[in-house]
Amino acid sequence: MNNMITAKISCPYCWEDFSIQVDPSVEAGESYVEDCYVCCRPIEIYIIKIEEDDASLRVFKIEGNES
Ligand SMILES: [Zn+2]
Repeated sequence: MNNMITAKISCPYCWEDFSIQVDPSVEAGESYVEDCYVCCRPIEIYIIKIEEDDASLRVFKIEGNES
């Protein structure tokens, strides 16, 4: 089993900073969805760069999913 990478992001909805676990098998250019740990809204996480123990991420709101 691979070790997960811990990366810090800011939620694009509530702007809270928190850490997420990134699967090191994902590749740069991929994106996936993870719920904010604080407000539970879905965040699109785009992988800019991923290394053995570090990841650069961008976060986006998921459009059309807000009520
Ligand atoms: Zn949030």
